[in-house]
Amino acid sequence: MNQQELESVLANLGLSAIRYFDSIGSTNDEAMKWARQGARDLSLVVADEQTLGRGRLDRPWFTPPRTALAFSLILRPTPSEKMLLSRSVGLAALALAAVLQTLNLNPQIKWPNDILLNGRKLAGILIEATWLEDEVQSIVIGLGMNVFKAAVPTTDVLSFPAISLEHALGYAPDRHVILHAILSNIIALRPHMGTDSFMAAWEKKLAYYGRQVRVEMGGEKSVSGKVIGLESDGSLKIRDDTGKVIPVRFGDVRLRLFT
Ligand code: ATP
Repeated sequence: MNQQELESVLANLGLSAIRYFDSIGSTNDEAMKWARQGARDLSLVVADEQTLGRGRLDRPWFTPPRTALAFSLILRPTPSEKMLLSRSVGLAALALAAVLQTLNLNPQIKWPNDILLNGRKLAGILIEATWLEDEVQSIVIGLGMNVFKAAVPTTDVLSFPAISLEHALGYAPDRHVILHAILSNIIALRPHMGTDSFMAAWEKKLAYYGRQVRVEMGGEKSVSGKVIGLESDGSLKIRDDTGKVIPVRFGDVRLRLFT
């Protein structure tokens, strides 16, 4: 990957600007800094390697060189998109899922932010935002994905099994092509974020749908129940043994299949 190559491959997407790095701490950190400095809608940060990649709640995300995809896309939400901020993670997840389906894979979304193949984590999404007082200024959609087998971290650092595209497909597709397809899908799907069909598509892709799960909520707390869908703000709906529907909001939560 390099700046010129990226600019040429992504030329027809109408991006505002691209910043490419052979190595960076975190693409989201760079994108947040750029957003605060006034980056325009559809500005993109791409890195070949992240040395301080982040998942949610500052958990580490590993992006070794030459093996993975790591990018952060800056969006300047329109007034109507500002009402739909909590759906941004669904936007990124559905955009990636659609790309994987064109490769004949069957991706699932492990709520809230991970993409699974064969029950293993292929990619993670990290949504962040910049604010001016209580008004959102920009959204940063960060995405990290294991493309080559060598991107998959060793099991000792993982709290959940991982997989790569190379492992799932038997070959590693071109990272530029995958990046182009994901961005193109984000751009195409963005105007539909407010629709019921967007929510229906997101629900349809949920991992563990109809299954009994345990939601771990920081510390020792957890709740269990059956996954029954999503609230309109993207919260996960589970039904506990007493029949009560519990909305699980974004935050310090981790989803696990109940065993
Ligand atoms: P969990 O995956 O345990 O449910 P989570 O959803 O909070 O937790 P994220 O914040 O999305 O996880 O991602 C951080 C976690 O992902 C890390 O703690 C690590 O276990 C795992 N991880 C880090 N890098 C990779 C990678 N390249 N591929 C797969 N998993 C990774």
